[in-house]
Amino acid sequence: MLKNNIQIVWFKRDLRITDHRPLFEASLNSIPTLPIYIVETDYWKQTFSSTRHWSFIHDSLKELRKDLKNLGQTLIVRIGSVKDVFEDLSLQYNIQSILSHEETGNKWTYDRDNEIQNWCHKNNILLNEFPSNGIVRCLKNRTGWSKIRNLRMKEVVISTPTNLTPIIKIEAGKIPFKNDPIFKNNHSGIVQKGGRSEAIKILDSFLAVRGKNYTYNISKPGITEQTCTRLSPHLTWGTISSKEILKLIKTKKESLLESEKKIWNKNLTAVISRLSWRCHFIQKLETQPSIEFKCMHPYYEGIRENNFDIHFYNAWKKGFTGYPFIDACMRSLNYNGWITFRMRAMLVSFASYDLWLDWRKTGYHLAQTFTDYEPGIHYSQLQMQSGVTGINTLRIYSPIKQSMDHDPRGKFIKKWVPELANVPDTWIHEPWKMDLYTQKKLNCLIGKHYPKPVVDHKDAIKQAKLKLARILSKDGYRHGSNIVLNKLGSKRVKKNQKKIDNQLELL
Ligand SMILES: Cc1cc2nc3c(=O)[nH]c(=O)nc-3n(C[C@H](O)[C@H](O)[C@H](O)COP(=O)(O)OP(=O)(O)OC[C@H]3O[C@@H](n4cnc5c(N)ncnc54)[C@H](O)[C@@H]3O)c2cc1C
Repeated sequence: MLKNNIQIVWFKRDLRITDHRPLFEASLNSIPTLPIYIVETDYWKQTFSSTRHWSFIHDSLKELRKDLKNLGQTLIVRIGSVKDVFEDLSLQYNIQSILSHEETGNKWTYDRDNEIQNWCHKNNILLNEFPSNGIVRCLKNRTGWSKIRNLRMKEVVISTPTNLTPIIKIEAGKIPFKNDPIFKNNHSGIVQKGGRSEAIKILDSFLAVRGKNYTYNISKPGITEQTCTRLSPHLTWGTISSKEILKLIKTKKESLLESEKKIWNKNLTAVISRLSWRCHFIQKLETQPSIEFKCMHPYYEGIRENNFDIHFYNAWKKGFTGYPFIDACMRSLNYNGWITFRMRAMLVSFASYDLWLDWRKTGYHLAQTFTDYEPGIHYSQLQMQSGVTGINTLRIYSPIKQSMDHDPRGKFIKKWVPELANVPDTWIHEPWKMDLYTQKKLNCLIGKHYPKPVVDHKDAIKQAKLKLARILSKDGYRHGSNIVLNKLGSKRVKKNQKKIDNQLELL
């Protein structure tokens, strides 16, 4: 039987039809186009995946399907391994090419992409992969990277195709729900709504009103949920591209009245920088995929792995460490799937320095919990906040200072740690300092109704600093740092290197 020619557009973490080069290129050919999303059963068994991610993807696929239908060919959904699905399709069709975006993911997706590349090669199928956002493939070191990235961000937004040549008679396939047994790691709590229209809606509301106090509120949990862009899961799963966001910010900047400039300019500039950090961190994983598993500076290997204390881990993960602000942040994160940057950094700092837990183990909990789990940012940040890169200032956060600075009246704490609801402001940051009489009067016995601190912060940090100082003074440490710096460091980190040596920053 003569097989019909087709081309496949393989959707991965790019769930949109605008600024989507693979789809646009496909639309220029008259060959029937098969747009596909594959629910990879093995991926969903991995420790970094969770139903929280799937719920967001599910919303996004439903919209993507609708949008593709309007172009003339619905989204095809298949379940299984990508290779098996493509094999199966190749029995029915003559696949001429597969078009997709390059993906900078974890080792699992990297291995899968290699497998597909080999399969295409063996079967004489053209695999056409296009760059994603500002990430540059096959870059040896960071020289010149930002120039390429910035040029890419200035390119025009790729138009939405007007139509696709459809495939005759093909079953669309169901988009599974999160309670399907495919999805192993269940996550309760709420999930930010996915889908392209939601991305546009929240970006519009940010640019109209919400962004006015972006930088002012950025570290205030309980408020920042409304004043940050909240675009992170949309960028992770690709319902909108960085370039599209930058273009809309630019339009906003150009339309500002003189009287509005003072309020808006600094906020918009701050978002623009963060979008460039985004690419900067993902580029690290692209250049050195081993950072998912290995410390950037090899001298930090082995420092925490054998100290894993499961009781500490569970206390941290569930929000029962006895430090009210840490517990409030973790419980809020577990419920909402999002917390602002500083609080993510503080949670990791507490786990890595106070509890001396290995970042690889704590990182899995956070990966499952964040709706926006983006491997490149995630592993780079975990390593930075655990002090194992060798090129960044070691930042140790005090849970008490952070609490006083960012939740002075304990409003956020009381919301998420109701055990402390009656505790007055004086004690809310350090309830263990209440005398027994006060504890009884408030019906909040420390050690019974709310835990005692799992560790003494000051003692724990003293120990952590001693351990770190020993590493910093080892022969060859600086040489190791220079290797990391050349391969992964930004210009700013390079400039600051002198200041960084042997410096601990206590926040
Ligand atoms: C330990 C740790 C793990 C993190 N893991 C992730 C992750 O898996 N996925 C993720 O998207 N972000 C991660 N971040 C970065 C940051 O916390 C989130 O991007 C941000 O809180 C998302 O909220 P927003 O979209 O409202 O961001 P906004 O503050 O509104 O910023 C706009 C966009 O800029 C990017 N961005 C913001 N801050 C950073 C940053 N510090 N580094 C890189 N890009 C940034 C994000 O894409 C974000 O959507 C992590 C930070 C830490 C400390």
